[in-house]
Amino acid sequence: MSEMNHYVVHVQNATKELKMGQVTVHALRGVTLTVEPGEFLSIIGPSGSGKSTLLGLIGGLDTPTAGKVYIDGTDITDLSERELTRIRNEKIGFVFQFFNLVPTLTALENVALPIQFARRRAFNPTNRAKELLTLLEVDDRMHHRPSQLSGGQQQRVAIARALANNPPLLLCDEPTGNLDTVSGALVMQALRDVQSEMGTTVVMVTHDMDVASQADRVVSLVDGRIADDIDPRSTAQLAAMKMLREGRGEDATRQPKMETPA
Ligand code: ADP
Ligand code: MG
Repeated sequence: MSEMNHYVVHVQNATKELKMGQVTVHALRGVTLTVEPGEFLSIIGPSGSGKSTLLGLIGGLDTPTAGKVYIDGTDITDLSERELTRIRNEKIGFVFQFFNLVPTLTALENVALPIQFARRRAFNPTNRAKELLTLLEVDDRMHHRPSQLSGGQQQRVAIARALANNPPLLLCDEPTGNLDTVSGALVMQALRDVQSEMGTTVVMVTHDMDVASQADRVVSLVDGRIADDIDPRSTAQLAAMKMLREGRGEDATRQPKMETPA
């Protein structure tokens, strides 16, 4: 096993150029990033800095112009569409800003669906769905349809669905972007519970620094390059978060629940 196989995500000097008529947009200008198993990483940056492009490369939804992307030790850069689909199904759960639940199905049925469709079924669909909805604290709503749930509840159901087949990697693009502060905080707590209870590696894109800094690690993108890679528990970062909380009139002494690495 080569050295890089230890990482859940390894992006190696990836560039992404997009042709817009005569103009070439450099969406990513050489990004190298490794993510350890069980890490909770956020990617932050202004609009247009390349966050969604990077997440798309990591999720195998897009391919780099140059460079390599390894997921759980597999080089996904030159895979066929069919092989890529298999990697996506087996290795990666996706959570988006808009929850995209099937409106005619209950919460339970939404979560059970990807288990029923799995090539190799590893779980009893109903039992597994109940277990996940319990972990995400929406089990009391399992027989409700999406329209009968709040935004935060729908997002927690969407997270349960993304985890249905137990992927090692969960990718979230602005998961709190469509939620009020309280619902957003519950979704962030749910993601931290997933990380600690299931050991899932979480990579989350957000433009909100207060949300981003609840991760173990914050990578910031500026103009298609990594500008910073920090531990938000550092003193400077905690001070910045304190200011943000005071600005909103919240209890400034409250710190996010952060697991100390063993
Ligand atoms: P972010 O998610 O940080 O807002 P994106 O990754 O969506 O940024 O975009 C990075 C850059 O690439 C931006 O300049 C954007 O306009 C450009 N871009 C993204 N997708 C496309 C596309 N399909 N065609 C052309 N340009 C694109
Ligand atoms: Mg984006």
